[in-house]
Amino acid sequence: MWLAHIAVGLSIASYTDCLECMVLANAFHHLPSVDQLIVDTGLAKKEFHDAELHTPFFAFGVAAVAALFSWKYALLALICIGTHLLMDLPTDTGLMLLYPFSRRRFTLNLWKNTGGWGLGGFYRQKWAIALETPIWLFFFYRLIVTLV
Ligand SMILES: [Zn+2]
Repeated sequence: MWLAHIAVGLSIASYTDCLECMVLANAFHHLPSVDQLIVDTGLAKKEFHDAELHTPFFAFGVAAVAALFSWKYALLALICIGTHLLMDLPTDTGLMLLYPFSRRRFTLNLWKNTGGWGLGGFYRQKWAIALETPIWLFFFYRLIVTLV
C-alpha cells in the first residue's frame, strides 16, 4: 500500500500512552520502507526493495533490539512492522516471509508494484482503492475519538 501506511502508523500511535511511543509507532511502521531510500540513493539494486527489510525476520530483529530498552517498545515494533508487511503482501512483488530460511516470495497478488514514486499508477488499481479507503476511514475515526 501507499499513503495508507501513514494512516496505519498514526492509527497505531493513537492507541499508545506516551509521546515517545507515538513517535516510535510511526518510525517502526515506516522502517521497512528505508529499503526504497537505499535503492533511490543508488546504494542497492532495485531488488533490495521489498526484500530483507520486509520480512518477519527483520521485525523480530528490530523487536529484539527494542526489547533492550522496553518490552513495550518490542511489542510496538512487532505490531508496527507486522502491519507494514501485511499491507505490502497484496503487491505482485511478494515478500520473503520465510527469510532467512528461504527467499521464496509470497503474495496475495491484488495489485502491481508501481515503484517508489508510482503514486498515480498505484491508485489506478481498483484493489488499492478498495483496501485503502477503509483504512483511511478508520484513521479518521481514531482521529475523532482521540481528539474528542
Ligand atoms: Zn513496504
